[in-house]
Amino acid sequence: MTTNRTFTMIKPDAVENGHIGNIIDMVTSAGFEIKAMKYTRLSKEQAQEFYAVHAERPFYGELVSYMTSGPIVAAILEKENAVADFRALIGATDPAEAAEGTIRKAYAENKGRNAVHGSDSDENAEIEGKFHFSAEEIH
Ligand code: UDP
Ligand code: MG
Repeated sequence: MTTNRTFTMIKPDAVENGHIGNIIDMVTSAGFEIKAMKYTRLSKEQAQEFYAVHAERPFYGELVSYMTSGPIVAAILEKENAVADFRALIGATDPAEAAEGTIRKAYAENKGRNAVHGSDSDENAEIEGKFHFSAEEIH
């Protein structure tokens, strides 16, 4: 399945640090079209479910409390090869390892508070997009 879409969140650290505008600019300048977008805040239950795949990892508790610590921006983006191209645009999970010119290199604080989420597969992009948006909100 190739959807040409991915799902992203601008995470609480980047919102708190005033980077929403610059991050959206990097995303649209890289050729991604916004198909849905909202400024919102995750409940503990939503964050636990969104990151359920990491439930057994040692950082899970900290990740859930960080992701619920403040507002986020959630969005569905479209571009040819969206998932892989967006992962390249955001850079490595740990900003210390992220390439120059990536969003995490520019704006992430550290490996946990790393500014943005990007889906890791077409299948997860669809699941994650539907987790945050109703059919009517997706264009
Ligand atoms: N994370 C963390 N410590 C780690 C690995 C990951 O706090 O050692 C957090 C970080 O916010 C990351 C999220 O958990 O973005 C999901 O981890 P994943 O391995 O899926 O990284 P990503 O796909 O976001 O690059
Ligand atoms: Mg991931």
